Amino acid sequence: MIKEEKIIPNTKKSVDEWTFTPPITHNPALSIYRPFQYNPQLQKMLIGKQLLTDELPCTTEELQYHHEHGYIVYRKGFNRKELSCTRCGTTDPSWFAEFPCARCGKVEFYCRKCLMMGRISECTPLISWAGPDPKLEVVDKPLVWDGQLSEGQDVASKSVADAVENSSELLVWAVAGAGKTEVLFAGIANALSTGKRVCVATPRTDVVLELAPRLQKVFPEIKVAALYGGSEDRHEYAQLTIATTHQLLRFYKAFDVMIVDEVDAFPYSIDETLQYAVQQSRKHESSLIYLTATPNTQWQKECRTGKRNCITIAARFHRQPLPLPEFVWSGNWEKQLKKGKLSSPIKKWVESRLASGKQALIFAPKIAVMDKILLILRKLNPRIESVHAEDPDRKEKVMKLRNKEITILLTTTILERGVTIPNIDVAVIGSEDRVFTESALVQIAGRAGRSAEYPTGAVTFFHYGKTEAMLSARRQIVMMNKEGIEKGLIDV
Ligand SMILES: [Zn+2]
Ligand SMILES: [Zn+2]
Repeated sequence: MIKEEKIIPNTKKSVDEWTFTPPITHNPALSIYRPFQYNPQLQKMLIGKQLLTDELPCTTEELQYHHEHGYIVYRKGFNRKELSCTRCGTTDPSWFAEFPCARCGKVEFYCRKCLMMGRISECTPLISWAGPDPKLEVVDKPLVWDGQLSEGQDVASKSVADAVENSSELLVWAVAGAGKTEVLFAGIANALSTGKRVCVATPRTDVVLELAPRLQKVFPEIKVAALYGGSEDRHEYAQLTIATTHQLLRFYKAFDVMIVDEVDAFPYSIDETLQYAVQQSRKHESSLIYLTATPNTQWQKECRTGKRNCITIAARFHRQPLPLPEFVWSGNWEKQLKKGKLSSPIKKWVESRLASGKQALIFAPKIAVMDKILLILRKLNPRIESVHAEDPDRKEKVMKLRNKEITILLTTTILERGVTIPNIDVAVIGSEDRVFTESALVQIAGRAGRSAEYPTGAVTFFHYGKTEAMLSARRQIVMMNKEGIEKGLIDV
């Protein structure tokens, strides 16, 4: 029926009768309406998103107008009954605080967990688009790439394409240096050419910055959005989105294909909010592809027992085995360090690199320890630097290592992944420390021998007592090499 110039279901009639009423377009009374013109800019901003009113550059009236015509849905941002935040999925009450709300005048809860994306309180709606999708110009053959896949990559690439096609879940377990990005090309191309929306999410901003131009290059006709804290593409509607897992909190049922890179990496691996964000932002029917070089113990087990759909790339593209870490006992190295000395096997290791001029990465468990080591090493050679997460010159120092201006770089686990230096030896000092998990150690070992010109490199774990993580890391590398040989992916 029509009431106050709006079409609403006639509640006086029984539900059965509704079914037999003619479609609303048959209603002559409708001719009094002009067709509703939605705001196409709003459509592009809101499609597949869940945003706050403050994030949208339009008036509440305009939003309400769209809502009344069924083009926008409001959802409660905060569920008081269940005590949960709809945007980030947090249910742990310690994240919620009360405040006197200026908007509604009540004292109410808000979520501190996702506060930096704008405050969600009990009276905050999350706004999503419910109208038609914006028109995409579908490109028939979007991939422009003439590279070659290795044998292992090729098998994985087909599995990815299958998962995309069948909207299924897949874990790609590729050893460090196997070249996992290329494995995605065919699957992404397939999705894009059928009008699907694709997201590649990663825990780290560095990876977004590196991946976005790389994917834009091979998909030149596709609009690629790069999203991270402070990026400018925030309101872009793109068919291919590269985002930090954190940015996914703003998405809602957006993607047909969700690819999560480095699932084992911090903070994704331990932050349930980010895992929730991945689930929220994909469509009900969508594929979910995980990429990792080091799945956690649980996932490894699920892969082995066939409980998880998994494909491995057991060898690097240069067909040489992964360097095996050597365990070297260094005694109570920390005590020595307090006396201003380096434990002698460590010292010898460093001296031999300085003598041969071979570059090296040395990992230390803590910044304080690293600073002490640096003081000692500097006396041996001034071209030794250190780097940690908050170091403002981090990128510069890595660049200097690449340009061979630095001979040895000391680092915390911050460089455990993402850094590729062609000819380098790797050492861990205090590998028994808890920060060196199985996954971290496999990643660290994976820094060595990555280039085809220099496919080997020494990996040394200096320890004061072997840990389970060290043993598991070595086992994992041995197992992958074995599989690589069995599958004919490694030249022997
Ligand atoms: Zn309020
Ligand atoms: Zn929240």
